Amino acid sequence: MNPVEEALKIKEQIIAWRRDFHMYPELKYEEERTSKIVEEHLKEWGYKIKRVGTGIIADIGEDDKRIALRADMDALPVQEENDVPYKSKVPGKMHACGHDAHTAMLLGAAKIIAEHEDKLQNGVRLIFQPAEEGGNGALNMIEAGALEGVDAIFGIHVWMDLPSGVFGIREGPVLAGAGTFSIKIKGKGGHGAAPHETVDPIPIAAQAILAFQTIVSRNLNPIETGVVSVCAVQGGTAFNVIPEEVEMKGTHRFFSEEVRKLIEIRMDEILRGLTSAHGATYELDIKELVPPTINHPRMTEFVRKVALKYDMRVGEVAKSMGAEDFAYYLQKVPGVFIQLGIRNERKGVIYPHHHPKFDVDEDVLHLGTALEIALAFEFSNL
Ligand SMILES: [Zn+2]
Ligand SMILES: [Zn+2]
Repeated sequence: MNPVEEALKIKEQIIAWRRDFHMYPELKYEEERTSKIVEEHLKEWGYKIKRVGTGIIADIGEDDKRIALRADMDALPVQEENDVPYKSKVPGKMHACGHDAHTAMLLGAAKIIAEHEDKLQNGVRLIFQPAEEGGNGALNMIEAGALEGVDAIFGIHVWMDLPSGVFGIREGPVLAGAGTFSIKIKGKGGHGAAPHETVDPIPIAAQAILAFQTIVSRNLNPIETGVVSVCAVQGGTAFNVIPEEVEMKGTHRFFSEEVRKLIEIRMDEILRGLTSAHGATYELDIKELVPPTINHPRMTEFVRKVALKYDMRVGEVAKSMGAEDFAYYLQKVPGVFIQLGIRNERKGVIYPHHHPKFDVDEDVLHLGTALEIALAFEFSNL
């Protein structure tokens, strides 16, 4: 059985599924329609199904060794600006990250895997997860047992930074870990004409924002990478009133636990020093969004070998400071977050992920399906 040929046979079907999902996008944890369509097909093809809210865990094959393949299903609160026959029919919602393609590709793989179940030497688990976009759907799936009995996990994300049809298979860190912070600097309000009677939180906030810039430039080893971005500042309402407090929000990005800790500790030290110097106080609330996405060396080698065995194109892909909840799976079991290039200048498929004109080069989606099928059938040889 040649996975590329098998996937090519259902190329039009994969595109049709993708267009259908594209026309009816659903936001995080609302993937009712999408998951119902997925579930109906999987049942028809003989999969054992477990529902997790709007997520689906589906099993086929022997149980002693099991590979998991993951697709995410959620869309974004974006108004589509593409003028295409399959344009989103839901105002304000759009598949602007390509999760419609992920769902369609894995559905295609599910069909072929089931058709050739007799040749399968290992178990296959399909994970169709909700809420990748800021909902940590992966965590809910893991808590519901999605990784129980799973030896390795693989997921494909369509990728605008790669030429169409080229797979990005990178060992080690590929996507950053992300956290959010919110800060309150508490002073003492008063009249704008009598600053000496107040503790003005505004210059303290300004100093803190500038001092944060030195975390990456002065504290971080220049060989490492990190981001500290203050993205919202809120303080005061009138031109002549010094406010009681200033609130700030932002995000930090990192590729290792050490860098995450360094950023968070330095932020706290800077705030403590500055507020104490000015007689103010502060609150710093840091939340982890997702850990870094780190591809397992041996599994990366496995994916590369399988891709090359079937003459698929494999290229270099750069690390990105973006983040993915696939990282949570990779914290539990070895695996690979695989990128599939969809950039096609000739077709005008050039807009970045989350852009209102984002689109995918549909002519390469069957390649994603082919790689998923190949991984499922080659896994027993690993
Ligand atoms: Zn996204
Ligand atoms: Zn995405």
